[in-house]
Amino acid sequence: MVIESVNPATGEIVGEVESTAVNQIGRIISDARTAQSDWSALPLGTRAGILRKFGELLLSRRKIVTELMSKENGKPLVEAYASEIIPSLSFIKYYASKSGKMLRQRRVEIGIPLLKTKKAYVRYEPLGVVGIISPWNYPLMLPLGQIIPALMAGNAVVFKPSEFTPLVGALIGDFLWEVGISRKLFSIIHGGADVGAALVSSGIDRLFFTGSTATGRKVAELAARTLTPVSLELGSKDAMIVLADADIESAASGAMWGAFMNSGQTCVSVERCFVDEKIADRFIEALRKKVAELRTGAGTEAGSDIGAIIHKAQFEIIRRHISDATSKGARVVVGGEFSEDGGGHFIRPTVLADVPMDSILMKEETFGPVLPVVEFRNEREAIDLANASKFGLSASIWTADSKHGLDLAKKLHAGAVTVNDVISYYGISDGMVGGVKESGTGRVHGREGLLEMVTSKYYEVERAPRMKKLWWYRYDAILLSFFETATDFLFSKSVFRKIGSLFKLAPKILRIRKL
Ligand code: NAD
Repeated sequence: MVIESVNPATGEIVGEVESTAVNQIGRIISDARTAQSDWSALPLGTRAGILRKFGELLLSRRKIVTELMSKENGKPLVEAYASEIIPSLSFIKYYASKSGKMLRQRRVEIGIPLLKTKKAYVRYEPLGVVGIISPWNYPLMLPLGQIIPALMAGNAVVFKPSEFTPLVGALIGDFLWEVGISRKLFSIIHGGADVGAALVSSGIDRLFFTGSTATGRKVAELAARTLTPVSLELGSKDAMIVLADADIESAASGAMWGAFMNSGQTCVSVERCFVDEKIADRFIEALRKKVAELRTGAGTEAGSDIGAIIHKAQFEIIRRHISDATSKGARVVVGGEFSEDGGGHFIRPTVLADVPMDSILMKEETFGPVLPVVEFRNEREAIDLANASKFGLSASIWTADSKHGLDLAKKLHAGAVTVNDVISYYGISDGMVGGVKESGTGRVHGREGLLEMVTSKYYEVERAPRMKKLWWYRYDAILLSFFETATDFLFSKSVFRKIGSLFKLAPKILRIRKL
C-alpha cells in the first residue's frame, strides 16, 4: 500500500512511500539483532565518528530538509531551522562527545565489611533492538533526540515515522545509510496504527513512543502483554503563570510565541495562561495588539508566522474546542477565523478570555493556535489552577523575581518548569524532557535520555576465591551468635557497644565450621 504525503497548506501530494507489510516486521527485527552485535562491538569513538558524519551531511543538506519539513508539516521555514535543524545538530554533537563519559562504568562501593574481598562494577550496555515511534509535529528533531543516543549506546533501531510526515522520516534513513550505518542496523517501517502496533508486539527490547496520550495508553496496554518496556512521551496542557510583577510586554510576547509556534502543535505549547487579575487587562490588551499582527500562510513563504494545521481532523478538534468555550461564555479577544481556501487548513491565532475551567479548552489537549487566558486572585490559586490538569509535561512562571519563581516552581506538578521563558528548553541537549501524570513516563535528552537507551548490568569478581564465606553452610548456634553480634557491631550507634561486640566476635570466628 502507498502512503501519500500531503502538503497541509495546499492539499498537494508532496510524495509517497510504500507502507511496510506487517508480516515483514519479524524479519526486520531479526536482521537488526544480527547487525546490533557488530555495531555494539565497535569502540564508542568509532560510533561517534559515524554519527558526526551524519551531522555533517545534515548540515550540508539543511536547505533540502527544511523545505521538505515545511512542505510536509506546514511549519514556517524559520521554525524548521530554529526548532528542528539546530537542536538536531546539537544532539548529534552532544551525544557524540559526551556519551563515553556518561556511559563509563561505575565502581561499586562495597559497604559491608564481610564482602570487602569483592571488586564490583555497574556497566551500561545496549538494550539490543529498540523501536522508535514518532509523531508528525517535529518530524526531524523528535526522532533524532532518541535515534542518536540509541545508536551511540550501541543499539539497533527500528523507526516508524508518522504516516503524515513519512518523507522526512525516509530522509533520516537515507542520510544514516549514506554515512555507513547499515540498513539492517537502522531500518524504517512506514505505516499507521497497524504497523505501529505490530512493532510494539514484535519482541523488541524497548519501545520509545512519542504521541498522544490516547495512543500511548493503547501502546502501553499492548506492550504489557509481552512485558516490553515502554517509554512514553505524551500530550499535555501546559500552564503559564504570569505574576503581577512580570514584565507585561515580554510575557505577552512569550505567551503568544509559546501558544502559536508550529501552529500550536507542540507538546510543550502554552495551552493555558493564568494571569494575575491586577495586570490581566493590560496583559490581554498587549496580547491582542501583538496577535493581530501575526500573518497566517504557507510555511514555505518567508512572511508566514503561523503555518497550516496538519490535517482536517486536527482542524476540527481545534474548532470544537473554541466553539465549546465560547458557548460556555468565553470571549474571543482576537482571531477565531478558520479557512480551508486553497486546499489547506488555516486558523487565525486565537486568544480567548473569561474561559470557564470546565470547558474542553481548559481540560483536553487542543494542539492548535489557541490561547485561553484565565485570571487568578493570588499565587495559591494560580498554582491550584495550573495543577488542576490530568497532564504535566511542563509549565512556566513569569516574574521579575526569579528566585521567587524558582520557589513557586517546586509546587507545580510538571516534568519541567521554566521561569520567564517557554518551549525552548526542549532543544537543550543536556537538559531533560519528560512528563508526569498523563504526559508520560519517559525521559529524553541529556544523561537521563541516554540512560533510557541502556540496561545497567552488575559485574563482580571475588578476589579471595579459595576462602569459604562465613555465611555459607553449616548453620549452627555458633554461626547464629556470630551474626547476632556482627549485626550489633555493624549498625549499633554506640561506640562502646561496637567495641564490646568486636571483642565478642573474635573468639566466635575461630569456632565457626564451614562445610
Ligand atoms: P498519535 O498518537 O496519533 O501518533 C503518534 C504515532 O503513533 C504515529 O507514528 C502513529 O502512526 C502511531 N500510532 C498510532 N496508533 C498506534 C497504535 N495503536 N500502536 C502503535 N503506534 C500507533 O500522535 P500524533 O497526532 O502523531 O502527535 C501528536 C501528539 O504527540 C500530541 O498529543 C503531542 O502532545 C504528542 N507529543 C508529545 C511529545 C512529548 O515529548 N511528550 C512530543 C511531541 C508530540
